[in-house]
Amino acid sequence: MTRVATPGDDVRVAFVGAGPGEADLITLRGAARLQVADVVLFDSLADPALRQLAPNARWIDVGKRGFTGVAHAPRGGGRENTGQDTINALLVKHAQSGVRVVRLKGGDPSVFGRLEEELEALAAAGIECEVVPGVTAALAAAAATQRPLTRRGAGRSVALTTAMTKTGELVAGRHADTESFYMAGKQLAALSRRLVTAGWPAQTPALVVSRAGWPDQIASEHVVATLGDATVLHSGRPTVVTVGVGAVAIGAPLVVTDDHALPATPAAAMPQPATSAPARATTPTP
Ligand code: SAH
Repeated sequence: MTRVATPGDDVRVAFVGAGPGEADLITLRGAARLQVADVVLFDSLADPALRQLAPNARWIDVGKRGFTGVAHAPRGGGRENTGQDTINALLVKHAQSGVRVVRLKGGDPSVFGRLEEELEALAAAGIECEVVPGVTAALAAAAATQRPLTRRGAGRSVALTTAMTKTGELVAGRHADTESFYMAGKQLAALSRRLVTAGWPAQTPALVVSRAGWPDQIASEHVVATLGDATVLHSGRPTVVTVGVGAVAIGAPLVVTDDHALPATPAAAMPQPATSAPARATTPTP
């Protein structure tokens, strides 16, 4: 079996989940790795306040926009679309120079973070590394709206799904009692149609949360058929869409139909399209 580095090892590269929003959502272990880092390769979604945890490190912006990066960094210093190959090469180069490297990724590194490609690059170069988990966006959205993703007796499974394929095509299925869709914020109307085609009843609750974990997070309630109503409200913001049991407000009754739980009275349980009465999520008071 391949040896996996443990936190006590003197590993040169740590992949650290920054969490989805404000700096204090990082784990204590992630913060500790930042404190001893010489170089930090970070994504554009990470909170700039995290720099205070590693003020003397060299911070390099390798943030990509969208799912596909270009093969190499664009000419003219374009920082927003550093290609995956370039990131891999930077990781290997800095690790081989003997410094401590943190690869800081938004949310959790293992969720839609192209971690496998960077792990492969390090393995190919014979460099040991460590992965420090983080809070992924779907969990931050559940916390922001106080809607647990699992419900005892009714919501037994959760799926984290990207609606975007590698080629930029929008696809959706029905894989769990609660399904959280990443990277679909720009195509909510199309997602709505795909979800109905995939077998989700049109009145299934759907929750849209953008910038979860930030002070300006916004949440709005819909049903699958009216998801498109959320487009303008969440425009231009990182957005996660929770569909099914985990989108239902606490206290609303649930019934189980064809192995999936739905609100007993869908229209009453989830009546507000974003355009008429968007529900603004607030940070829950402790
Ligand atoms: N590794 C990240 C996901 C990266 S993919 C994680 O674990 O969260 C980028 C997608 O994540 C965005 O398109 C959006 O769907 C989602 N996302 C990231 N940050 C978010 C946030 N603060 N609020 C809502 N969705 C977010």
